[in-house]
Amino acid sequence: MTEYEPVIGLEVHAELLTESKMFCGCRVVDSTSAEPNTAVCAVCSAQPGVLPVINARAVDYGIMVGLALHCRINEFSQFARKSYFYPDLPKGYQISQYEYPLASDGWLDIEVEGTTKRIGIRRAHLEEDTGKSFHVGDHSLIDLNRAGVPLLEIVSEPELRSAEEAESYARKLRSILVYLGVTHGDMSKGVLRFEANVSVRPVGSDEFNTRTEIKNLNSIRSLVRSVRYEVQRQSDLYEAGGVVIQQTMGFNEATGETVTQRIKEQADDYRYFPEPDLPPVYVNEEWVSHLEAELPELPDAKQERFVELGLSPQDAAVLVADQGVAEYFEAVLAAEGDAKSVANWITGELFRLMNAGGHEIASVKIAPSELVALIGLVDGGTINASTAKDVLAEMFETGQSAQAIVSAKGLAQVNDTAALEAVVMGIIEANPEEVQSYRSGKESLIGWFVGQAMRELRGQGNAQVINQLFREKL
Ligand code: ADP
Ligand code: MG
Ligand code: ZN
Repeated sequence: MTEYEPVIGLEVHAELLTESKMFCGCRVVDSTSAEPNTAVCAVCSAQPGVLPVINARAVDYGIMVGLALHCRINEFSQFARKSYFYPDLPKGYQISQYEYPLASDGWLDIEVEGTTKRIGIRRAHLEEDTGKSFHVGDHSLIDLNRAGVPLLEIVSEPELRSAEEAESYARKLRSILVYLGVTHGDMSKGVLRFEANVSVRPVGSDEFNTRTEIKNLNSIRSLVRSVRYEVQRQSDLYEAGGVVIQQTMGFNEATGETVTQRIKEQADDYRYFPEPDLPPVYVNEEWVSHLEAELPELPDAKQERFVELGLSPQDAAVLVADQGVAEYFEAVLAAEGDAKSVANWITGELFRLMNAGGHEIASVKIAPSELVALIGLVDGGTINASTAKDVLAEMFETGQSAQAIVSAKGLAQVNDTAALEAVVMGIIEANPEEVQSYRSGKESLIGWFVGQAMRELRGQGNAQVINQLFREKL
């Protein structure tokens, strides 16, 4: 049996968060919630005689993404007509970039099993989104709110070698786009869509085999599932002596299978030609350097900085993956939190609470200074670590301060040595057998003794002091 290696290239479409559409003055609205056809004009509904105008802000955003992905920003780029017929494409063609994209030849570093792998970016080009059609009974309805919304298409080299690498690439790219502020990244609203190009080849081969293209993947989960399925399907096909046919496929979420949509058009079926109604785009150095100077700190740089603060690369990576989480972490540091313990609390207990309730960081009610206060109560010995978890959960629920919860519930731990000593002595007297075993060498019993004392103190004893006392008294 031959072993096959996946070869995967991703095309990512990102709707850009500009105020107006790509070639007209219509507002960009949330196409999942806005009243249909309320952000539509003569241009984006393709009335005769209208002329498109390029949205400069969309070009800015494209350049910013190109820079963040280490691409060359091309001095000359040009829009082209890509002709095809579809009811949600009113002009009968889409304005895209073809021969002369805005940005070319960049790269993106991804983490794969603890090491870094560099994935080439072939190009990033601007285009416009289509409208949406809906089929109700025997009627078809069309909503053109999305028609003409700026899209940036980012195309990778076929250098991803597993579904996991594709996932890592998708997550990293999304994170960069969100940091740049060019999209809010909410995949449930369809603002980021993936297409996976997949082929397989015998391990050791450096040839590129025929690929299939899986369209319209609306979540990272679907991306991963569909790639896995397709890799298996193609491997099985070759193994059985068959051939892979180049085609466009869809992914059936319910069955988890890829399905044929159409046998792929060649590029000339689209009859690409330069858009005669738009001038070419000339981007000079000044334009680029102006935008470069304004780029925010990106995930990789932030992660490096967090590692310099003493975090493990893993913790740093987890904290930077979501821009909101990174901002929260930095706000806690600004409130004088210690980087390592803050990172532990956020990636541990806070994430657990967030995941359990399906909360985003934006809705977390715990003020950064209050997380610092909670950690201070633990460090100062007022409460122990296990009580602190309960307090954090209460803070998460109610937004109350750590101190208020500790006072109201009487959670302060017993630090009074005399009181602790009394408990310790009581336990020693009540358990002569265990005392005997301990003294004859079974020192691991110390944990049992401390546990007994903690139970009596309802979890609020200072474990360290109790441990110390038992060792002395025993
Ligand atoms: P098209 O414009 O027809 O979509 P491209 O050559 O621009 O084709 O490639 C589109 C995507 O397909 C890119 O992401 C590229 O990395 C990927 N790709 C190209 N060849 C292969 C292959 N043999 N196997 C897997 N992916 C491939
Ligand atoms: Mg394609
Ligand atoms: Zn319009």
